Amino acid sequence: MLTPVSVGHKSLTDYTHLVGRPLVEEIRELAEGLEGLRVLHLSATAFGGGVSEILYTLIPLMNDVGVEADWQVMLGREEFYNATKRLHNALQGNPDSLSAEEWAVYERYNEMNAKEVEGGWDVIIIHDPQPAAIRGHVPEKAKTWVWRCHIDLSTPNPAAIDHLVPYLRDYDASVWHVQQYVPSALSDGASDGVVICPPAIDPLSPKNMALSPEDAAFVCDQFGIDVDRPLMCQVSRFDPWKDPMGVIDAYRKVAEQMPEVQLALVGSMATDDPEGWEFFNSTMAYADGDPDIHILNNLNQVGAIEVNAFQSQADVVIQKSTREGFGLTVSEALWKGRPFIGGDVGGIPLQVEDGETGYLVSSPDECAERALRILREPDLGKRLGRAGKEHVRTHFLTPRLLRDWLRLFRDHR
Ligand code: UDP
Repeated sequence: MLTPVSVGHKSLTDYTHLVGRPLVEEIRELAEGLEGLRVLHLSATAFGGGVSEILYTLIPLMNDVGVEADWQVMLGREEFYNATKRLHNALQGNPDSLSAEEWAVYERYNEMNAKEVEGGWDVIIIHDPQPAAIRGHVPEKAKTWVWRCHIDLSTPNPAAIDHLVPYLRDYDASVWHVQQYVPSALSDGASDGVVICPPAIDPLSPKNMALSPEDAAFVCDQFGIDVDRPLMCQVSRFDPWKDPMGVIDAYRKVAEQMPEVQLALVGSMATDDPEGWEFFNSTMAYADGDPDIHILNNLNQVGAIEVNAFQSQADVVIQKSTREGFGLTVSEALWKGRPFIGGDVGGIPLQVEDGETGYLVSSPDECAERALRILREPDLGKRLGRAGKEHVRTHFLTPRLLRDWLRLFRDHR
């Protein structure tokens, strides 16, 4: 019933020229003591969103250095996804929390999935809240249990977090992007197991590998973009927290002064996201048939290469989120050396130093003002983009994330 995900092969050696020899050597040393460690990653979906993006690279690299890492996806149905979507939103601060019936659905699916977990693992890593209650049913299935939080928990709905925390307390460790996300109920007195470790992107994946300007333009042209005119772009799931409508407002402001500007909103749909389509349709309606707003999703064949092309081609990349756990799209854009504007929330300021490696904004007007500045001053854009790329190289590429996980495994042996 738990579905195994196959992730293919990657080699750490291939990353040496991008991250430097010292980091690769440090990883090899750490890995020597961890040969054959059996690690299971358990998540709610293998498609769409940041978690799957990370695991498709991290797991092959864990295997490459000698850890025996697997990935399995829990079984869910619509009633479960409805409950967990509400939970996700509540944990990010939505005033609506789950009803008693929804919590019962949540519990029932966790219990059902727990029965399917095989035993004998050294470490089970549970990703995000959806499967968080599994551990309580089968603690004997792994020597060490880790809960990995991928969402912005800085201002959670109190009812939702109070209900979730008891599930988390018994984990041996919990891993967070930033300290502000750790609920006080977990950090008080029990901080031993709290590990701060932001995620990372894979610089060699089709989404992030170097693409020539000509190839990027070729791909964007096929989607109706005029590659000789300026392009603003946001790549994200269609989700209110990503604020695509705020991006449309910002684009409209820019267009008042620079009518030749175009906007691409690129967003795939996750299988566990029942609200996605509804919000996609509202965003389409908000665009109001403007031929210079290009709204694309995975049904238009927008895959990794296309995301790469849009991020590489854009004159300014935007991630105007109002909540953002980390925002892999931020590092993805910076890694391509593009000038970047992001919401001043969640994990975005970790990646962007305002005015140095991009801009942080808190409103569509501010976003429009910074975008115009970048579009009018290409040298400014180049400077921001170059600095952003180096920041990502040092902090947000997968080998650094692999090292942090190996340290955690070593500390819990
Ligand atoms: N993504 C994609 N296609 C899309 C939209 C998003 O491949 O149409 C990817 C995006 O490039 C990034 C991930 O999905 O790698 C989203 O991760 P992020 O942390 O930005 O946000 P999340 O979706 O996890 O909230």
